[in-house]
Amino acid sequence: MSETKSYTGGCQCGRVRYEVQLDLSKPVIACNCSMCGRAGTMLAFVPPDQFTLRSGEDVLTDYQFNHNVIHHLFCRVCGIKSFARGKGRDGGVQIAVNTRCLDDVNIDQLNVQKFDGRSR
Ligand SMILES: [Zn+2]
Repeated sequence: MSETKSYTGGCQCGRVRYEVQLDLSKPVIACNCSMCGRAGTMLAFVPPDQFTLRSGEDVLTDYQFNHNVIHHLFCRVCGIKSFARGKGRDGGVQIAVNTRCLDDVNIDQLNVQKFDGRSR
């Protein structure tokens, strides 16, 4: 049973804005790797056809580390990481949305699943 809905979100200063189709009844990922553990991101993964960047491509800064499969994109004005682009295990592009950056979503009601990214 899918509860996919349309959400909007973006960075703090408002330059980066996107729209995403998400099923938030599914678990979101809290990872403890050197990046997510510091930033506190809670990620939901969607295929690129469920994600539309409305504005802000010009202010996104790309940061890569480790295996360089994920583009950690942050707003160069306010510094917020509202989403990332990466490759899934099957090689296809995946968008990782930081659910903390979605409008009108109560973070406390999300089903958070811990992921041990530090040990990978
Ligand atoms: Zn910003």
